[in-house]
Amino acid sequence: MRPFAFFERLSKAFHDYPSLSKILVVSTISGGGLIVYSEANPSYSNNGVETKTRKKKVVLLGTGWAGASFLKTLNNSSYEVQVISPRNYFAFTPLLPSVTCGTVEARSVVEPIRNIARKNVEMSFLEAECFKIDPGSKKVYCRSKQGVNSKGKKEFDVDYDYLVIATGAQSNTFNIPGVEENCHFLKEVEDAQRIRSTVIDSFEKASLPGLNEQERKRMLHFVVVGGGPTGVEFASELHDFVNEDLVKLYPKAKNLVQITLLEAADHILTMFDKRITEFAEEKFTRDGIDVKLGSMVVKVNDKEISAKTKAGEVSTIPYGMIVWSTGIGTRPVIKDFMKQIGQGNRRALATDEWLRVEGCDNIYALGDCATINQRKVMEDIAAIFKKADKENSGTLTMKEFHEVMSDICDRYPQVELYLKSKGMHGITDLLKQAQAENGSNKSVELDIEELKSALCQVDSQVKLLPATGQVAAQQGTYLAKCFDRMEVCEKNPEGPIRIRGEGRHRFRPFRYRHLGQFAPLGGEQTAAQLPGDWVSIGHSSQWLWYSVYASKQVSWRTRVLVVSDWMRRFIFGRDSSRI
Ligand code: FAD
Ligand code: MG
Repeated sequence: MRPFAFFERLSKAFHDYPSLSKILVVSTISGGGLIVYSEANPSYSNNGVETKTRKKKVVLLGTGWAGASFLKTLNNSSYEVQVISPRNYFAFTPLLPSVTCGTVEARSVVEPIRNIARKNVEMSFLEAECFKIDPGSKKVYCRSKQGVNSKGKKEFDVDYDYLVIATGAQSNTFNIPGVEENCHFLKEVEDAQRIRSTVIDSFEKASLPGLNEQERKRMLHFVVVGGGPTGVEFASELHDFVNEDLVKLYPKAKNLVQITLLEAADHILTMFDKRITEFAEEKFTRDGIDVKLGSMVVKVNDKEISAKTKAGEVSTIPYGMIVWSTGIGTRPVIKDFMKQIGQGNRRALATDEWLRVEGCDNIYALGDCATINQRKVMEDIAAIFKKADKENSGTLTMKEFHEVMSDICDRYPQVELYLKSKGMHGITDLLKQAQAENGSNKSVELDIEELKSALCQVDSQVKLLPATGQVAAQQGTYLAKCFDRMEVCEKNPEGPIRIRGEGRHRFRPFRYRHLGQFAPLGGEQTAAQLPGDWVSIGHSSQWLWYSVYASKQVSWRTRVLVVSDWMRRFIFGRDSSRI
């Protein structure tokens, strides 16, 4: 039995039967510890015994990267957290392509969300989908897949004090006819499981008697649409699965299998360094994966996919299975909410740098469903100048300039990015450069025009953060830490000075730290691009990939499962039973 499992069960019994705690108080002589335990935990004596102050209720929508890292970090018992999501687990998406071919099992990449929250935070979970957010009445409306009361009613509403939206995004079909009906997506664990059985199905179907060679070839033609990291990784996983495992079991299929990758742009993996793109394209060509660049899919039916080249030529290819991985779109609940709050023409919810949804009180959004609207320095330049010019003299002394600049760097991350991109060490370099360019007299005082010309380029470094698990997880952690210190920072704000108001911001704004990215290319080779444009491709990066992904697992349980799956695959190969 796990340590403390007995106490956990006991405390659950108190929760379910509050009178039990009284019986124990009476019947235990030496059970002081238990008595104290039952009394010190107010949530277990809810019937009749009200907690002294009402806990603030945080409703968290979503149990993906953003939601799970929020829950994992939140460590303040003054909140009551209500998690709502259609799935009661967190899924480690970077390993989904491995699940499609059985390199890793589905259950090895998921962790029940109830295991993720810290024990001192009161958390409850509702398996349901939110379909409407009403900021006016501070309610979310939800629908369960299962009946929730005796009348089988599926809809209910939940109040919140704070709402954290982390519902992610959905696959984008760009409304291309036939995609929804005929293609597989690779977003959820169920998608990966479906792909796995469809691959095996294709091999079994192609082995049946009474088919001509053309039909067998069609069944064994796997098409991947989208040359981003997911599409490329799936194509290479499938290539390895076919060549390392399936051809041994289906020798006749060997010369019939074909993998095609369709990409609308001129290259695959365009978000990576050019060296990686080139290596991947060459490796795929060597491996016999047919990469068709500049191919835009225009239509799909149940047997054929049509793609248009840049020259406008449409070609139609017969296929057995398509995996669609071309990017993400907005979920309906988010679309509806954006319309309500006047953000209807956007792709994702706009938040400020503290992840607060613009125009809404106490609503936060993070992960793939949101983007940060970074304020531009040049929009605020007059206010910045006014704030810095404490004596209202119309010019800034160097002292005044330096006093405000560290807050400016905190408030506007683009300043630091710009300095880095120009190889400058500090803001003074920027000023010197501007003065040199303007031929000004290196005066010790600075007027607004000089400040403008020093900072006029920095906004070019404002970049949208990518829709990745890395960003979502960092945002979840950041927001939970803000929630943890909400009261403390209310009294002692630790953020930069407010440019257009008085005092300081409560918190420092969210700052993304890019830790690098991987593109597994099959054959135990991976491309890695680490910060500082450090690129490494090959077998050594594959080992780096293994160690990073093992260490990033949310729990020891999944870590052990994933590593043992990898070992199993090394020893026995991938399993091709269709179950
Ligand atoms: P998600 O993780 O998608 O979570 C959204 C959550 O919201 C889910 O729990 C969902 O069930 C729930 N939800 C949906 N609708 C509702 C609703 N109406 N009400 C309540 N809850 C709802 N990123 C990387 O950084 N590195 C990688 O290697 C990487 N590989 C990837 C591989 C694949 C195959 C895929 C699909 C993605 C990969 N990503 C990777 C991207 C990464 O998974 C996403 O950026 C990340 O999941 C976004 O996190 P999120 O919390 O915003 O959304
Ligand atoms: Mg002055």
